[in-house]
Amino acid sequence: LTYSYLNQIRTAIDLLASLPLIGPKTATKLAFWIIEAPKSKVDKLLDTIRELKDSLEPCRQCFSLTVRGRQPCDICQDRSRQRSICVVESAMDVFHIESSGTYNGYYHVLQGLISPLEGIGPGELRIEELLQRLQKGNYDEVILALPPTVDGDMTSMYIAERIRERQLELTVTRLGFGLPVGSTIDYADSLTLAKALENRKPI
Ligand SMILES: [Zn+2]
Repeated sequence: LTYSYLNQIRTAIDLLASLPLIGPKTATKLAFWIIEAPKSKVDKLLDTIRELKDSLEPCRQCFSLTVRGRQPCDICQDRSRQRSICVVESAMDVFHIESSGTYNGYYHVLQGLISPLEGIGPGELRIEELLQRLQKGNYDEVILALPPTVDGDMTSMYIAERIRERQLELTVTRLGFGLPVGSTIDYADSLTLAKALENRKPI
């Protein structure tokens, strides 16, 4: 590629191809879509991305997302919710469960799972913060909504054990899968998720 404009396009394609789920073919199509689309449309896209990146931060209580400076988040501040905490791997799971409209309690985002293979221990997750929340607030139930994988199971067992040790008086449940083994929550449609939440079982 000897002409500078071709190199410029190549640079954009490489950058787009580095995004998750985007291969070189899609990246090339996207680059030309950007070049040929109305400027107003591209500007709106860029503004939305920048705003998304600049205006959100983790909630200091549940570690889901909140508008910057609004601590704790709207869900944590909502007093009308049921006294349960749904424990999930990531903020994306909160997004999915909220979108499904099947759950009306609070959340706690672990920001990962225990994974010996990847060298992630319990200390690197928000487990201690969860236990402190449970000890302080009067919650009735903890729902472990973690994926049905080796890491997800190990993390669920670990948390259930820590809750038992502290002799907290609350029910600990897991999602009734429902969800195919090896899948994570974000792959499940809202109907599967609704069923899994409905069929939750004590552990
Ligand atoms: Zn929160």
